Amino acid sequence: MHDAGGPPLSRVSFDRAALHRSDDAWLAEAWARARVVLISPKSSTPVTDAGRIEFRAAADAPDGPRRFLGVIDDVPHFAVTAEPDGDNWRTLREFGAAADDLEAGLVVSAVGLEQWHQRHTHCPICGAPTGETLAGWTRTCPEDGSQHFPRTDPAVIMLIHDGGDLALLGRGPQWGEGRFSTLAGFVEPGESLEAAVAREVYEEVGVAIRDIRYVASQPWPFPASLMLGFVARLDGDPSITLDPVEMAEAGWFSREEIRRAADWTDDLTTPLDVSDGVRLRGIPPHFSISRFLIDRWLAGDI
Ligand SMILES: [Zn+2]
Repeated sequence: MHDAGGPPLSRVSFDRAALHRSDDAWLAEAWARARVVLISPKSSTPVTDAGRIEFRAAADAPDGPRRFLGVIDDVPHFAVTAEPDGDNWRTLREFGAAADDLEAGLVVSAVGLEQWHQRHTHCPICGAPTGETLAGWTRTCPEDGSQHFPRTDPAVIMLIHDGGDLALLGRGPQWGEGRFSTLAGFVEPGESLEAAVAREVYEEVGVAIRDIRYVASQPWPFPASLMLGFVARLDGDPSITLDPVEMAEAGWFSREEIRRAADWTDDLTTPLDVSDGVRLRGIPPHFSISRFLIDRWLAGDI
């Protein structure tokens, strides 16, 4: 186990023991003494009232696609896909803030695999149906033998500041009024991460930036993102020119204004009360890398 620090879902990495993925005899022996995380096709998992994973013994696990996640304290851990069998199944979005770092790490891997398998059922070369191989970490085509690996789509997310007391936050067109977050976007083929940060900021709000620095990352398997967090500084004119498709509103906000904002609830579509003229009422919850970047900046760490 390795404590990597960083935002939620990123703090602990466990031993994935990848060498065992091709060892069927080892996997069969390991299954008999495994702890099992159940994952539904919609990414929920059974949790206790305290927000801990309700693990199952292998003998009590339902039949379903079985994936080897890794070894923790000599105990093999597997994920099995299953339909919810109780009312205590929650998604990472719902229980992630309360989750133990190690358990969150297990679930984020299991959800990422499940989402990938659901979306990649056929060979991208010849179109034949593929099957799971290497204990769930690849899919193999029975026609041409090609092997396919889980996707992770890099996305950049960035805290932009003016070098002084202001940070640039935006409101997505799907979000109700009052909710602001850091800017974000997907990396395009052929692009460096730093170039993606600069391009997205320029496209969404029309400002130039410099001093682009990497801060931390967070896996976000809905369905396959790896969020790469950056900080950067305004370069020149702070005037905002919105891309109306990507952004409903954006602005420069002071540390005091940001500290006054409350945590978002999950329902982004419900507007917050902005009748008193305060535009910034809600920022992302602590669970998110956006909030991690905001809090690091508020604290003067980045
Ligand atoms: Zn094929």
